[in-house]
Amino acid sequence: MRRIILTAGTIVAAAMLVAILVPRMSPANGAASPDQWKIHDRNRPMAPVITPGECSTPDHAGQPPSDAVILFDGHDLSKWRAADGGPAKWKVGNGYFETTPGTGDMSTRDIFGDCQLHVEWATPNPPHGEDQDRGNSGVYLQSLYEVQVLDSYQSKTYADGQAAAIYGQYPPLVNACRPPGEWQTYDIIFHGPRFDASGNVTRAAFITVIQNGVLVQDHVRIMGPTEHMRRPPYRQTPEKLPLKLQDHNHPVRYRNIWIRALGPEGLPSV
Ligand code: MG
Repeated sequence: MRRIILTAGTIVAAAMLVAILVPRMSPANGAASPDQWKIHDRNRPMAPVITPGECSTPDHAGQPPSDAVILFDGHDLSKWRAADGGPAKWKVGNGYFETTPGTGDMSTRDIFGDCQLHVEWATPNPPHGEDQDRGNSGVYLQSLYEVQVLDSYQSKTYADGQAAAIYGQYPPLVNACRPPGEWQTYDIIFHGPRFDASGNVTRAAFITVIQNGVLVQDHVRIMGPTEHMRRPPYRQTPEKLPLKLQDHNHPVRYRNIWIRALGPEGLPSV
């Protein structure tokens, strides 16, 4: 009996120790759940220190935050590959690269899951074509979910296909486009889908998009992969996949692309 009592006491003590230590052992530097911490608890870990970036100007690309993965710094396409897996074929200019019509989409060599993504783009000036045939490209999160890139400055198309639309699903809240030829920014927060072992969706993907400093997609629930004329359901995918840029046969330019991985609590993965 004494042995049983001791064992039970040990279990209780161990449980109490775990209850005390686990919040402090959380990798989420104090942001996992406010309930795990007393208010203003000075033992709660501080946020990691990083150096913030600098905003771009019309003539110069800005500086990414110190903890970002830089996908294009103005010089080369070493972080990218062509659709056939070979070297990226798009043209690199002075501080930018440009979709080279007919060469196909371009994807990152690395894979990404939940993330913060910064992309700058400019459609051709003078503009060519109308509707969807006017400065069309696209930023595909996980190569599946397109944030539309299009010349939508004083140019009409269908609402869920204009610039900053989640293609075929959500028009942007406002049209915050700049004229063709001017650099525009997308700041994107993306949380990818999750699936159980049978492939059922346990969490849909969500996306927030800020265009040129203006909120245009407010944490919308992505319905599945974005396609032309179709809204297919989710199919089971890994938590991390390449980022893709679309070749839609228009010479759209990109610069200053960087990404920050987000952990389960919305913090940088270590
Ligand atoms: Mg497109």
